[in-house]
Amino acid sequence: MRPIKDPVSKFIKMRCPKCKNEQITFGKVATSVACLVCGKKIAEPTGGKSKVKARILEILE
Ligand SMILES: [Zn+2]
Repeated sequence: MRPIKDPVSKFIKMRCPKCKNEQITFGKVATSVACLVCGKKIAEPTGGKSKVKARILEILE
């Protein structure tokens, strides 16, 4: 497993900490990203970079 330095311009696969749903989102989001299943916010924009609250499973390049 690689260290995650800067996932801004990549897609990331994350798992919702609440319902374990896995979904893919862009590393740089302009609006909050909610889990498609339970609606929990799993990523928020912070100055051009996403603040991810879910567990990151994989960085897709
Ligand atoms: Zn969820």
